Amino acid sequence: MALWDILGKSLGVPVYQLLGGKCRDSLPAYASGGWADVKGIGAQLQSYIDRGGFRAVKMRVGVMDGDVATSAARVQAAREALGPHIGIMVDAHGTFSVREAQRFAHKVENCDLTWFEEPVNADNKAGLAEVRASTDIPIASGESEATRFDFRDLITSGAVDIVQPDLAIMGGITEAVRVAALASAFQLTVAPHLWGSALLFAAGLQLAAATPNCTILEYSLGFNPMLHELAVDPPVVQDGFIRIPDKPGLGVTLNPDFVQRHRIL
Ligand SMILES: [Mg+2]
Repeated sequence: MALWDILGKSLGVPVYQLLGGKCRDSLPAYASGGWADVKGIGAQLQSYIDRGGFRAVKMRVGVMDGDVATSAARVQAAREALGPHIGIMVDAHGTFSVREAQRFAHKVENCDLTWFEEPVNADNKAGLAEVRASTDIPIASGESEATRFDFRDLITSGAVDIVQPDLAIMGGITEAVRVAALASAFQLTVAPHLWGSALLFAAGLQLAAATPNCTILEYSLGFNPMLHELAVDPPVVQDGFIRIPDKPGLGVTLNPDFVQRHRIL
């Protein structure tokens, strides 16, 4: 990612230009968070919407809730609080068993979920395919995969509808471009995993700008100073959309004060 940044800056163009040009000026973002219990989840998700005009939000489910029924009740409460026009994604972080994921999906099938992320352990691709075959909720996964070969197996086993490459885990922009092309050949969409830092976010934004089958971006609203404070020009969400920066390279500048404060050498 650093080499793409250097190449863009040396040529005076944004990285998206090096990837073939941007196919959009901005992308919708979804607010990512949602840990509150059944009583508080509606207000917590609504607070995200009020902060950035988001039209979609993601909440956590799975082992943190103790049982499937509690996860399902929280999702039902979220849908009731937000009404029918806000997209809701759920993320189990791979913590359900196959049967738990199927029971959960059945209990929330009236909630019109945008996607169900990492229902089961990322190493259990056959189990993930079993979950996907048993529900019409789109399945999202991929943040734990390291190469295009892992994504090939994920995709060809019929395990996924939305692929979520994390550019910092999987070998940067170059490998993510290959994964996006692979996904397009299977008519799948891409939603990069952008939890790590402002640099990862900037790289994901450049990829998304130049990738037609990238449909939406994750925007963390959890405690995340590496995302919100590391850069002097962090991404800004307005009316639920993030503008693609037109500055050279990755289009992001580190905040030297923040770096200085957290130096360990
Ligand atoms: Mg996730």
